[in-house]
Amino acid sequence: GATLGVLGSGQLGRMFAIAARRLGYRVEVYSPDQNTPAGEVANHEWVGAYDDFDQLAKFAEAVDVVTLEFENVSVAAVKAIEHFAPVRPGANVLHTAQHRSREKNWLKSQGIPTAPFAIVRSREELADAIDRPGIDGQGILKTASWGYDGKGQVRVRRTDDLAAAWNSLATDEAVLEGIVDFERELSVVGVRGLQGDFRVYGPIHNIHRNHILDVSICPPAVLDVQTRGQAVLLCRQIMEGLDAVGILCVELFVRKNGQLVVNELAPRPHNSGHLTIDAFRSCQFEQQVRAVCGLPLGSTEQLRPAAMANLLGDVWEAPGGPNWTAALGMPNVKLHLYGKAEPRTGRKMGHLTALAETPELAEEMVRKARERLWTKQRD
Ligand code: ATP
Ligand code: MG
Ligand code: MG
Repeated sequence: GATLGVLGSGQLGRMFAIAARRLGYRVEVYSPDQNTPAGEVANHEWVGAYDDFDQLAKFAEAVDVVTLEFENVSVAAVKAIEHFAPVRPGANVLHTAQHRSREKNWLKSQGIPTAPFAIVRSREELADAIDRPGIDGQGILKTASWGYDGKGQVRVRRTDDLAAAWNSLATDEAVLEGIVDFERELSVVGVRGLQGDFRVYGPIHNIHRNHILDVSICPPAVLDVQTRGQAVLLCRQIMEGLDAVGILCVELFVRKNGQLVVNELAPRPHNSGHLTIDAFRSCQFEQQVRAVCGLPLGSTEQLRPAAMANLLGDVWEAPGGPNWTAALGMPNVKLHLYGKAEPRTGRKMGHLTALAETPELAEEMVRKARERLWTKQRD
C-alpha cells in the first residue's frame, strides 16, 4: 500500500489519518509538535519546522503523496516537497487561500461577491480605508496571514484609536472588511478529484459563538433551492478556478436580501464538515483520501439530518469533569474526541453529532447532549 503524508497534525489530520488507515494506507504526519492528535493515530510522526527544508525533504521522500490539514505552510516549502512527492492541493491553491488579501483579490477577479474590503499596510492606510464606501466608518480588521477562530482580527470604528487597533494586530498587512449584515452563515464543502470530478456537501448552516464555530446543521432548516444551487455553484467555480484537488470549504454569508457573499476559503477539511462522518455515505476525510490518491470519489448522499456541536476546553471546567455518560445516554448522539492533553478555554477538544428526523430536532438534541456534559456525575 501507499504512504500518505500530511502537513499539520491537529484534529483534521487525525480524522484524515483514521479514514486513510481504514482504506489501507500508511500515514505519516509532519508538524513542529510532538504527541499530537494526528501523530497519535498515524504510523509515523515527523517533528520539524515548516521551514526546515532538509527535514521536509526527508519526510517527502518517505511518502507517496502529500496533503495538508492547515494552510499556513509556505509556498516555498510546498515547492520543495513537490520535488519528491505531489502535494494536493498544490502550491497555487495555498498561495491564494493562505493570504486574505490575495484571496479577496482573487475572488474579486473571478466576479465572486465578497464583503467590501480594503488592503491596509499601515495605520495611515487604515484611517483612509475606514471611510471607504461599503465600509462607512466601521469594519473588521483581519491580519492577512495566520488568523483562525477569530484570532488576528479586531472590530474597528472611525472613532476608535486606529493606531492602537493597527498595532494590536502586529502585522505588516491586513484586510479591513465592511460589516456584512448577514441573516445567517453557510458553508459548502467541495471535493474535487484528479480528473476534475466534483462532489459537494451542504450548504451547512453554521452558528458562531465568540468568533468560533459553535454549532453546524445540515441540511439547514429552511433554505430555498436557488440559494442552495448558487452556493454549490460558487464552490464548484472556486475549486475549478483554482484547479484545487482535495477538499475546499467555502464560508458564506447570506444577506437579508438573499445575496450570497463569500467570507473565506479553507483548502482542507472544515469543522462544519465534521457531521459528514456520521451523517453521510462517505465523510469529508475519506473523500480527501480518495481525491488526493486519484481514486473514484465516494457518494455524498446524506443519510440523516444532523447537527454538530463543538466541545471547547471550557467543558472540562464542569465539576468532576465532563459527564460523558450522560451525553452518551442519548442513543442518536455520537462523541468524537481529539486526544488533546490540555483542555484550554476556546481550544477545540472534540465534537458531538446528533442524528434525527429533522434538522431542528438534530440541533435541539445536540445542544441537549452538550448541556448534559455539565450535569453532576453519579458516584
Ligand atoms: P476560521 O478560520 O476559524 O473560520 P477566522 O479567524 O478566519 O475563522 P473569519 O471566518 O474571517 O475568521 O471570521 C469569523 C467569524 O466572524 C465569521 O464566521 C463571522 O461570524 C464573523 N465575521 C467575519 N467577518 C465578518 C464580516 N465582514 N461581517 C460580519 N461578520 C463577520
Ligand atoms: Mg479562517
Ligand atoms: Mg472563518
